[in-house]
Amino acid sequence: MSAIRHALTIKREDDFAQWYQEVISAADMAEESGVRGCMVIKPWGYGIWERMQRLLDDRIKAAGVQNAYFPLFIPLGNFVREAAHVEGFAKEMAVVTHHRLIADGKGGLIPDPEAKLEEPLVVRPTSETIIGDAMSRWVQSWRDLPLLLNQWANVVRWEMRTRMFLRTSEFLWQEGHTAHESREDAKRETMRALEMYRDFAEQQLALPVIAGEKPENERFPGAVETWSIEAMMQDGKALQAGTSHYLGTSFADAANIRFQDREGGQQLAHTTSWGVSTRMIGGVIMTHGDDDGLRVPPAIAPFQVVILPMLRENEGDQALLDYCDALRASIAAQSALDEKIRVLLDSRPGKAAAKRWDWVRKGAPVIIEVGPRDMDGETVSLLRRDALWGADGKPAFQTPSRDAVGAAIGGLLEDIQQGLLTEATDRREANIVRDVESFEALAAYFSEDRKFPGWVEVQWSRPTGEALDKVVERLKALKLTFRNVPLDAAPANGKCVFTGESAVERIYVARSY
Ligand code: AMP
Repeated sequence: MSAIRHALTIKREDDFAQWYQEVISAADMAEESGVRGCMVIKPWGYGIWERMQRLLDDRIKAAGVQNAYFPLFIPLGNFVREAAHVEGFAKEMAVVTHHRLIADGKGGLIPDPEAKLEEPLVVRPTSETIIGDAMSRWVQSWRDLPLLLNQWANVVRWEMRTRMFLRTSEFLWQEGHTAHESREDAKRETMRALEMYRDFAEQQLALPVIAGEKPENERFPGAVETWSIEAMMQDGKALQAGTSHYLGTSFADAANIRFQDREGGQQLAHTTSWGVSTRMIGGVIMTHGDDDGLRVPPAIAPFQVVILPMLRENEGDQALLDYCDALRASIAAQSALDEKIRVLLDSRPGKAAAKRWDWVRKGAPVIIEVGPRDMDGETVSLLRRDALWGADGKPAFQTPSRDAVGAAIGGLLEDIQQGLLTEATDRREANIVRDVESFEALAAYFSEDRKFPGWVEVQWSRPTGEALDKVVERLKALKLTFRNVPLDAAPANGKCVFTGESAVERIYVARSY
């Protein structure tokens, strides 16, 4: 056993929740704001979000969806029109009731009773109702369909238990909203968005996910079908990382999105909505982080390569900086993952070793240190964040020649991206148990003295209504939830572990965030 001195104080296996908090602060990604459930996203965390936005926005636009922007405030009346929707969100809506404050006579301010709004305004928790309103104006004929819109925005849901990135009261997201002529068209869009998320998560976040349908009890309020991508975190818990909803015609009915069809009749549009949020950053941390901090997949790293000159604060520094800047320029001219490589020359004052550990904790994929000796030998000292430690318990520096680095760096970054996906996929597969044939066996799996239980795939008869509620209660007693019915599962061939009836499909059961 080598005595590695890890860059964090808390290890994943000792306290996963505390480790998660430590990564966020040690990587300088975000901090609590003092406003309940709301966080300050710092440049490194926001830079990762901007990368996610860029990559996903390209995919959204490639599918013919256009960005637009709708108001933050939604008249309460808009919400009330879709009964299931308002019921689902009522418990977590922030509401604006006044538009002016007055002195309370004690040095403070209170809402002015004279400035009470006639109709309260809800701070959007999601925008189906207000976008539906616009759609009703923009859609007259079948020729106006499909209408494919997306909005990048912040939303507010008054969450009771919050955790940075994973569940915040205010979060950033994109929400796609589309209207279609037929159920088939709308379903196709629902599945297109789901597949877009699956591929984005796997190829760019290196996050293996399972795409499937949520059971009835987990549907988006008002939706006919809710589909999700589910990722397994390193503690075995599931994270719903994105959702795509087929909304049927009830939202169109509520917002009056009607069109003249090809035969001249009046029809209600079929709508969809789909979203992913800053929660995905939490998913990246809990999938790729290690006991030294974050490891950012190269595709979403704000900087993929960081160059650290070992400055001595003497007259030799300038030559070293020049050497490093030439290196920076040669790397910046290269490409990886279909883009120019993002490289930073970190020439701030300070010891290179201290800066090295900052960048390790932040998870920059490649760190290159250059000292006078490297310069003399025309080499560099290169550290891969995904292979930090050597067998001797020391950082595993490689010392390629400067010219070799320029040529190899693109391939190296692609290798790191692929390696992170492979590692996460292997871990997930090792932690999924299939063919659990009874409720007792399911309960036993989760009650065993297993630190990080994974997921169990069971066969079920897809009960609905009260029968489903009972099953959900039984799972809840074991702190378990249904995740989804995977799209690519083998057909059912056995009995439902909950009802004993013939099973119709397979579904994942897991602890979850
Ligand atoms: P929904 O509109 O409920 O389908 O949620 C859309 C996306 O936002 C999903 O990917 C959720 O995982 C994510 N999400 C929902 N609630 C929160 C929250 N409180 N904080 C961060 N992300 C959230």
